[in-house]
Amino acid sequence: MKEEIISNLKNIVGKDFVISDLSQMQSYLYDETETLLRPKACEDCVVVKPGSSEEVSKIVKYANKVLIPVVPRGGGTGLCGATIPLKPSIMLSLERLDKIVELDEENLMITVEAGVTLAGLLERLNKHEKLFFPIHPGDEGAQIGGMVAENAGGVNAVRHGIMRNHIKALEVVLPTGELVSLGNKLLKNNMGYDLLNMIIGSEGTLGIVTKATLRLYTKTSNAGTLVVSFDGRKDASLAVSKILQEGITPLAVEYMERFVALESAKHIGKVWPATKGSVDLIFILNEATEDDLYARSEKIVELCEQYNAIDSLIAETTKDQRNILEIRSNAYTAFKENVADALDIAVPPASVPSLIDDLIKIADKYHTVTPSVGHIADGNVHNFIMLENGKLPVCFEDIKEEMYKAAMKYGGTVTAEHGTGKTRKKHMSLQYSEREIEIMKGIKKIFDPNMILNPGTIVN
Ligand SMILES: Cc1cc2nc3c(=O)[nH]c(=O)nc-3n(C[C@H](O)[C@H](O)[C@H](O)COP(=O)(O)OP(=O)(O)OC[C@H]3O[C@@H](n4cnc5c(N)ncnc54)[C@H](O)[C@@H]3O)c2cc1C
Repeated sequence: MKEEIISNLKNIVGKDFVISDLSQMQSYLYDETETLLRPKACEDCVVVKPGSSEEVSKIVKYANKVLIPVVPRGGGTGLCGATIPLKPSIMLSLERLDKIVELDEENLMITVEAGVTLAGLLERLNKHEKLFFPIHPGDEGAQIGGMVAENAGGVNAVRHGIMRNHIKALEVVLPTGELVSLGNKLLKNNMGYDLLNMIIGSEGTLGIVTKATLRLYTKTSNAGTLVVSFDGRKDASLAVSKILQEGITPLAVEYMERFVALESAKHIGKVWPATKGSVDLIFILNEATEDDLYARSEKIVELCEQYNAIDSLIAETTKDQRNILEIRSNAYTAFKENVADALDIAVPPASVPSLIDDLIKIADKYHTVTPSVGHIADGNVHNFIMLENGKLPVCFEDIKEEMYKAAMKYGGTVTAEHGTGKTRKKHMSLQYSEREIEIMKGIKKIFDPNMILNPGTIVN
């Protein structure tokens, strides 16, 4: 990066908050897709860490003047390469915007700066007797800005939906550098087009989030985690459909193949509690009363038994519950070194059994195994295409395309929660018509006339 540019950035944020030395920049150039996508033009990138929304605005205005791409960066936990630079860029890290601005107990809302991590938000709310925030993607290093930009999902979506459902307002620096406030604390607001919801899920291509106001909910204290084991994948997914049809909505319903659970438990030095069967369903329950908790657990086990469940156990202590969730959360990390791509397909929930059948047939056809976990009640299956001897397998593109097409057959999506980013961009046309993509490109152009914000991501 040219000295003059570095010097101007230092004038905006202070010399301690600009990194131009490549060796110190490394941790800002990757996300979790590093086996699939490598950053480009790294030696011509510069990392900038603004300390306020106004500084973000000044950086973006300057970038517009000299026409340099800006790549917003949160916790770098993304799974679609969206924060990886492909051109000489200003890597704009939000890490210093890490303050909780307001906890509004009367309206059940919290306003935080974009760089607050999920761990930071949870730590603050754990101290509160009554309030909690439901969205939990697996890595607590994710920042709230990154979770907004990716419209994160995670385990609790069965009952609470996705990030979008809980965002009331955003402060955003537009790609031209203007600072705007979108949304408010209203629960209903139908005035005009919904720009707030355009920013959510836009992966740092339409604006840089600097603050977010999120809805909070009251805690229920009767929690239990149920593990039900099956011998057949299809039985497990049919049982989930039945449970949902019966009107039971657990906080989370996770699907994990047993060998994945064992590998993950080993990876973090824990023991997976189930021993019989080959796949497990994990039900996280959180009910108003203890009686409700037991009644719901019994009903779930009874319904699972109708689909040949062979064993079940309930974790009642917080320690045992955390153990199970940690093992589930580390499923990806345990395999990560050998994962070529973690797919993020979703189909309507009732089509999951057929999708799982199709995915197994496709993997068999290519003489491979794609270990699977999933937010199964959301219709969302993550299966990992593995590296072969440390390299992308020859069939990589073919197997991926066939799996995506299997999802399309059921009216599904290429990505439910991890995002389009740079790694799934080329598959947009599997899901959207030319006209739809053209409209998306038009929206990008209106927000970002100089096309400087996060190039190479989604449609630009
Ligand atoms: C082990 C593991 C488990 C995961 N499980 C889940 C899961 O269950 N569900 C799920 O949804 N995701 C999951 N993820 C993916 C990831 O945690 C989410 O995508 C998360 O929302 C990314 O946040 P981040 O701060 O790390 O963003 P980054 O990776 O830093 O960036 C992601 C995108 O957001 C943009 N961005 C970041 N901050 C801002 C900002 N302030 N303003 C505008 N744009 C911004 C970036 O430019 C980029 O396009 C998992 C990841 C890991 C590693």
